[in-house]
Amino acid sequence: MSGEEHRSAALLSGFLAGEGFRVREGVAGLPTAFVATKRGRRGGPRVALLAEYDALPGIGHACGHHLIGAAACGAAAAVGRVLDDLAGEIVVVGTPAEETIGGKVVMANRGIFRGLDAALMFHPSTENRVNTTSLACHSLEVIYKGRAAHAVASPDKGINALHSMLHLFSAVDRLRRRLPPQVRMPGIILEGGRRANIVPDRAVARFSLRAPDLPGLRRVERAFRLAVQSAARATGARAIVRPADYTYAEMVTNRTLAALFKKELAQMGRRTVDTPRKRMGSLDMGNVSQVVPSIHPYVAVAPPSVPLHSVRFARYSGGPAGWAGLRVATRALAGVALTLLVDDSALVSARREFRASRRRAGRKRC
Ligand SMILES: [Zn+2]
Repeated sequence: MSGEEHRSAALLSGFLAGEGFRVREGVAGLPTAFVATKRGRRGGPRVALLAEYDALPGIGHACGHHLIGAAACGAAAAVGRVLDDLAGEIVVVGTPAEETIGGKVVMANRGIFRGLDAALMFHPSTENRVNTTSLACHSLEVIYKGRAAHAVASPDKGINALHSMLHLFSAVDRLRRRLPPQVRMPGIILEGGRRANIVPDRAVARFSLRAPDLPGLRRVERAFRLAVQSAARATGARAIVRPADYTYAEMVTNRTLAALFKKELAQMGRRTVDTPRKRMGSLDMGNVSQVVPSIHPYVAVAPPSVPLHSVRFARYSGGPAGWAGLRVATRALAGVALTLLVDDSALVSARREFRASRRRAGRKRC
């Protein structure tokens, strides 16, 4: 499970150690994270391959993360074997707990990806796609504190925390309709009182705020916090808002690197879907893509009708289609990494594109 991938982390880092990589375990304060490096000749770029290996409770590898770890390590081993003739370094970053805390967010916040020239990974899917987008995300917990009283005999003596929460849910619904269509603000109530004859003195909810990018997310969060306060005023309850997780940034796909991956896929007869994604969630790779030119392409391992995070997807990703996807992804990742090590112009153009995207993001913030 997420954060408990001790055997998977040991298996992958042990394999890399056998291939001559220098392994550091437990990086960024995460016991199951690791960084493995292998150097060629002096100078040259530092190319990272990112490995995920966490599973889902009850349904195991229903997101195919075992294939991500295997592909990253397989590609790193293949390129590692020809590194003596090349300038540069291959870095495998073992990134745990994607499904829960977002291991890459923690690792990015702790500077693990600083100084890298490219970050490459793949994710199993039901389609082949190289231009990945995702939403920026921040989850917040809202607590209303009121005053308990007999709900029948003397409701006027109480302050109903649940009423404030219900006000907030309607306000959020109205707010979402005013905001851009990609904005999402789903919420659930965790606590809303104990008995119908007691005025609830405490109500707790959790909301997941999503927007196309970080500046947009900040605007959504400001509007949300105003709604929380106005719902508190409606009953006289006191409101507390606290973060329920780290902020996920939107995924900025580096088009230069994505084009290299697409070329590799084409050579293996895999055609990609290039239309914009209509349905998307958030990815911890988004935070990596803000600090280093990155890709998070998808490789099909199951038919389009099979949803991710399902028992059927787990079966496909562990069967012949999973193996076929793994071979394709490993070869494509190795091909892109090798191109970056031998072809300076690819890296120059990836860097130029990355700097331009950071400048655009900076202007949005102003
Ligand atoms: Zn996944």
